[in-house]
Amino acid sequence: MGALGTDVAAGVAAVRARIATAAQQAGRAVGDVRLVAVSKTHPPAVVEAALAAGVTDFGENRVAELVDKAAAVASDGTLPRWHHIGRLQSRKARDVVGVAALIHSVDRASLADELDKRAAAAGVTQQVLVQVNVGDDPAKAGCALDETPALVAYASARDNLDVVGLMTMPPLPPVGTDPNAAARPLFARLRELRDGLHPAFPKVRELSMGMSADLEAAVAEGATMVRVGSAIFGARGDGPWQPGEPR
Ligand SMILES: *Cc1c(COP(=O)(O)O)cnc(C)c1O
Repeated sequence: MGALGTDVAAGVAAVRARIATAAQQAGRAVGDVRLVAVSKTHPPAVVEAALAAGVTDFGENRVAELVDKAAAVASDGTLPRWHHIGRLQSRKARDVVGVAALIHSVDRASLADELDKRAAAAGVTQQVLVQVNVGDDPAKAGCALDETPALVAYASARDNLDVVGLMTMPPLPPVGTDPNAAARPLFARLRELRDGLHPAFPKVRELSMGMSADLEAAVAEGATMVRVGSAIFGARGDGPWQPGEPR
């Protein structure tokens, strides 16, 4: 294993240990929390090092970068699983459907329509999450808390979409505050929302919440997937990785 492999394996191990500790403290099984390693800006070799360290799921927030990297990374046909985790423009829906195993950021009916149309054309059922702006933060995407049930119902009624859960990204905590403490009530709110929807929408089970700074609070509140970048891979580059750049 080269230096890159050693660094990435150490980052993966450190984050897995944090997840395990948080799960244990919450009385949860560590296997109930999936690690989505956020590889945005990092080259394919970094993804391959994480795959070698046992990571199965990778998150990207730009469609072109996701598609290029998915093509560049050695795959066994089922792994890695790619996740689209950021704001998604409707005109990019065509490119991401069927490539991403899970799209985390459905925040409006028009995007659900577009994804449904593209999934139908591709002959796939696309799994999605509805993104909720639990902190009511103008800087964050996501539908409002009180609009979530209607959007979940709408997207769930599309023939080619499966709504399997909810996602959120809390506001940046004020400087000097503990990110876990700031995020925890918001993560609790997402869990309560999911619990309220689950009886009517039994497929809605997943909670995608928690990042490098606040994954402990997310696991404590029931996250089924955490999206972790910098705590695994270190600081990000300035822009997307592009084909032709070093792997
Ligand atoms: C970049 C990103 C993450 C990962 O953030 P880190 O702080 O590096 O762990 C998680 N979720 C989304 C939606 C992101 O864009």
